[in-house]
Amino acid sequence: MLLFFILGLLVHFVFFGSIFDIYFTSPLVHGMTPQFTPLPPPAKRLVLFVADGLRADTLYEFDENGNPRAPFIRNIIMHEGSWGISHTRVPTESRPGHVALIAGFYEDVSAVAKGWKENPVGFDSLINESKYTWSWGSPDILTMFAKGVGGDHIYTYSYDAESEDFGAYDVTKLDTWVFDNVKEFFHAARNNQSLFSKVNEEKIVFFLHLLGIDTNGHAHRPTSREYKDNVKVVDDGIKEIVSMLEHFYGNDGKTAFIFTSDHGMTDWGFHGAGHPSETLTPFVSWGAGIKYPQKVSAQKFDDAFLKEWKLENWKRQDIHQADVAPLMASLIGVPFPLNSVGILPIDYLNNTDLFKAESMFTNAMQILEQFKVKMTQKKEVTLPFFFTPFKLLSESKQLNIVRKARSYIKQRKYDEAKPSHLLPCSFIAISVLVAFFLLIQDCPWTYYVYCLLPVPIWYAVLREFQVIQDFVLSLLTFPPSQLVGYLFIFTLGIEVLVLSFFYRYMLTAGLIAFACWPFITQLWTRAKSISLSWIFFSLLLAVFPLMPVVGRKPDIFLVMGAGLLVLLLSLCVVTSLIKRKDRFINEELLLHLFQMLSIVLSMCVVYTTHDSLLKKQGLPLLNQIISWITLASSFVLPLLSPTSLFERLFSILLSSMSAYLLLSTGYEALFPLVLSCLMFVWIRVEQETLQQLSVSYKQKATSLQFTYSPDITQFRQLYLDDIRRAFFLVFFLVTAFFGTGNIASVNSFDLASVYCFLTVFSPFMMGALMMWKILIPFVLVMCAFEAVQLTTQLSSKSLFLMVLIISDIMALHFFFLVKDYGSWLDIGTSISHYVIVMSLTIVLVFLNGLAHLLTTKKLRLCGKPKSHLI
Ligand SMILES: [Zn+2]
Ligand SMILES: [Zn+2]
Repeated sequence: MLLFFILGLLVHFVFFGSIFDIYFTSPLVHGMTPQFTPLPPPAKRLVLFVADGLRADTLYEFDENGNPRAPFIRNIIMHEGSWGISHTRVPTESRPGHVALIAGFYEDVSAVAKGWKENPVGFDSLINESKYTWSWGSPDILTMFAKGVGGDHIYTYSYDAESEDFGAYDVTKLDTWVFDNVKEFFHAARNNQSLFSKVNEEKIVFFLHLLGIDTNGHAHRPTSREYKDNVKVVDDGIKEIVSMLEHFYGNDGKTAFIFTSDHGMTDWGFHGAGHPSETLTPFVSWGAGIKYPQKVSAQKFDDAFLKEWKLENWKRQDIHQADVAPLMASLIGVPFPLNSVGILPIDYLNNTDLFKAESMFTNAMQILEQFKVKMTQKKEVTLPFFFTPFKLLSESKQLNIVRKARSYIKQRKYDEAKPSHLLPCSFIAISVLVAFFLLIQDCPWTYYVYCLLPVPIWYAVLREFQVIQDFVLSLLTFPPSQLVGYLFIFTLGIEVLVLSFFYRYMLTAGLIAFACWPFITQLWTRAKSISLSWIFFSLLLAVFPLMPVVGRKPDIFLVMGAGLLVLLLSLCVVTSLIKRKDRFINEELLLHLFQMLSIVLSMCVVYTTHDSLLKKQGLPLLNQIISWITLASSFVLPLLSPTSLFERLFSILLSSMSAYLLLSTGYEALFPLVLSCLMFVWIRVEQETLQQLSVSYKQKATSLQFTYSPDITQFRQLYLDDIRRAFFLVFFLVTAFFGTGNIASVNSFDLASVYCFLTVFSPFMMGALMMWKILIPFVLVMCAFEAVQLTTQLSSKSLFLMVLIISDIMALHFFFLVKDYGSWLDIGTSISHYVIVMSLTIVLVFLNGLAHLLTTKKLRLCGKPKSHLI
């Protein structure tokens, strides 16, 4: 059996890993020849300001008093430079945003699999092409462009990650830190000869990454005073830096400035998807080589922004985010970043027509280069008869187009030279070639695993031919109509589960169906009170999937309410326990009281922490200590309780609730409570249904012991009803997962829920805490399932294998739904669906073990063996 499990796990891990090879591979190629314009560039240096997470409307709009929110930037738009909206692409996250801005391509999805801050795939960038780059800001962003670059021409200055604390202090300091350091840097440059000559070189870049606005947006939402005031701080800072630089370089008119942001932010403080508030970012450019403001009388845009921002008469020129990279490259005359797919926005250029045409030509050549390299690579690894070259762009045609463009430039027919067909064509070509991906012969070793793995599995299946035959024969004993009916219900059930991944309200539908279930069976006539409570709790639980997830406001009073309900329930339980037993053992009473006390403590901690964060006093140390102790003790305390079925389950509930309260911000605190009530009723219901089948088995659930080791010979045969049990379990597990959140709330986790434990950004710790929060309902369900197995006297393995089969059928379903395009959220969601179902099988094995441990292990204090028997 153990071998079987290990092999099973192995197969699942392989299938899990396969999606990264099938869907997520980098389309980037290397080995292109750099292309640059042979004419002198307009600027010697470029200053790039990126205000992380700044929305276009917040920057351009007027504040409540009717003054421009960013007076300096507005002054630029009206008197000095060009402006527009930079349209970002999904995923609207910092990393892909900066890659698009600085390297000119939209982050390829293979980054999903390879982590955030590291450079998963080597790529070229403006910063790499520059002679020197000095950059200031968040370490996460700066290291991305500095890593793996040969030579020492990139200098980064960043605060430590610890400073990105969004609970404790005013985060505009993240921005003022950058401004202050830039000023200090130039001050030092005056007195340092070698530095002075470096900053006076050509082709240099200064990159200021300003994280304050993003951090304020996450912490307080973009509608807040904090977010909007931060825009003013940034505006003031830029004003100072610009005047300082002009002074430093003696107003030589050789500096180009660009101000933009990597992505926007939704009203509820998230980014990642494709909502306009996330994809519309400001773009303002001025200085050397940039067009002066153009007055126009009318402009056509589909949105109403121009009127709102009172900018109808200043020409708005929208661009795509990746177009910024070629613009910057042409301004300072460095080769266009090799992997860039951006198209030079020539309307921004204040230069001769020759320069514009030459730059456009360079742009086209640089993209054509990528196409050529991609094609050669593909040709090399594909069997000749599989390779079909992209006909619209054969080599002779390329030459023709290029030659024509060249001659047009010579004849000064600039408009005809624009090789506009060239760009879309090469993209179609690249994507056609990528479609041949699976046919390539030069496969990594993993492909062999994928192809060869099914062979031994099918061999193993066919060896058990006898079993399959028996199974089919036993199925045939049913009347066909009944068989079809069962199959239909089974398929319907699985489809409801699959759909619930996309529409949480399907869970509500399923739970309502569950509520009707007692009427179909004879349960209703046999046990009215149990049926009633089953119906009540099913319907109550059905409410949760209807609640909103994203953007909900924290409601601390619901958390308090949940805590009070738990206390009330435990009071009832404890009094009933005392009544039932004449000599209630002190030690156990003490344990229950202690667990109730920890619930009270959790409530206090949640309340005071929330209060103190509202007052911006940070997280009190005492609260933090209590939180961690409560969390740690919640693993141990249940092990001290008696192993009788009911008391042990109750103790597990109390412990997990005290931890869950600390991790809650709203109504979800009630969820595990309702879920466990339903679980308890479920145990009773299963016992009833078994007695219905007149099995000679009448043990009371309350007197059952978890440690009771069942007699092997007493195990009964599998009934059809057991398939329903397995399905119930899978359904409850999915409900445990989606009851309070969808995948989105896991991806962009609600940071507020870990504030009781830490407020400094630490992805690993926060991820672990969020993981535990998600796991708690799972553990509750698994413990209940352990009890169901015990009461129904079923071999745990056979029931468990059925659960695995159900989740594998679902996994197959999701495998075909994995996406490799769309927003970070879409891609992440489709992967998470697959991962969740796939890990359901993997995690179930572990959860089963954990639940077994939690329910059967008994710790004894002081090593003193207990003398009493319950
Ligand atoms: Zn960002
Ligand atoms: Zn952000």
